Amino acid sequence: MLPRAFVTSVVGSWPRPKWLLEAFERREAGLIDDETLKIYMDDAVRLAIQDQVDAGIDVVTDGEQRRTSFVAFVGQKLKGFKVVKVDELHPEAREIMKRHKAPLTIWRPVISGYIEDSIIAEDEAKFARAVSPRPIKVTLPSPYLIMWESWHQKISSPYYPRPEDAAEAYAKVLRREIARLIDAGVAFIQLDEPMLGDLLEASETEPDRYKRVAMEIYGQKYRGLKDEIRLAVDLVNEVVQGYGTVVRIGVHLDRWPAEDSPVVGYERLAPAIFDLKVRQYVVEYKAPRMGDPAEFAKILPSDKELGLGSVDVRNPKAVETPEEIVAHVERVVKYVDPTKIWLNPDCGFAPGQFRAFPRDVARAKLKAMAEAARKLREKYWWV
Ligand SMILES: [Zn+2]
Repeated sequence: MLPRAFVTSVVGSWPRPKWLLEAFERREAGLIDDETLKIYMDDAVRLAIQDQVDAGIDVVTDGEQRRTSFVAFVGQKLKGFKVVKVDELHPEAREIMKRHKAPLTIWRPVISGYIEDSIIAEDEAKFARAVSPRPIKVTLPSPYLIMWESWHQKISSPYYPRPEDAAEAYAKVLRREIARLIDAGVAFIQLDEPMLGDLLEASETEPDRYKRVAMEIYGQKYRGLKDEIRLAVDLVNEVVQGYGTVVRIGVHLDRWPAEDSPVVGYERLAPAIFDLKVRQYVVEYKAPRMGDPAEFAKILPSDKELGLGSVDVRNPKAVETPEEIVAHVERVVKYVDPTKIWLNPDCGFAPGQFRAFPRDVARAKLKAMAEAARKLREKYWWV
């Protein structure tokens, strides 16, 4: 049973143990087989879940331990994709990413054939469900993200002339995957939509940092702010149509602000953002340039839940105190019913395997967050 108010969860990824990263390398070099690698991954998942349970988290993930990155793994699992090094997509790719301050993962999924129905996360979910004492959240890359991250002008257009066509094909596979995840007993399905979150920094005529990179590396075109938001929203709605009554579905937005990014929050994407037929908005709001979460909370429709980013995932130097987190959450309490407020970190702690975040610090942050939720439930005991 979940607590009535201030439920705690994570966004998705959890720092991978060093021995798992070494096992990935040994598999790559052909020194171990898939079966052996699976034993490592199973153990890493058990550990990731145990870390979250020990910290007092209510809804846990498998820490995305089996995924090399939150988006590249789609390239490994889906028919119609392949994974390549970014330099194969554009010889100056690394230079381009640096210039726009938009570091994408080096291994990129690219659409290189017709997208066919494939298992994306059902296998992960079944294992996590079997070993977890708590309800499970599973993350899936959303179609708009996959479109921007993996449709390449030269490589993909023989199969899908327009990026939108590829997004539609992927959306159909996602719908089937959601049905499988429901059957597997998943409590929460979260569609990851950082490409929609990044639009905070775009204008009608000027794309954001990440779109600029995708335009240069992949040869995509920017449609203008209104049409981009509309496309992202329509694609998610195609995926989730009809499922909202059987499982909790959320959308995760982030943008990982740069030091010169504008100070603004996801309220900038309203009102179109609220057309998403999802129950929960899992939003980054702890990062220094994310603005005031109250601005988003004020206009959040009353039937929606707010998964509030409450600890920073980029700064391993400081662990937030429970009191600090309580104060952060209280900025939204007067606008959102506490039964609809969830606490989570801003993002995953390790969206890609090469992002190192000390596990002990990540654990301390979750523990502080769970303690803050306990204090909040005590204070708002009547809800
Ligand atoms: Zn994120």
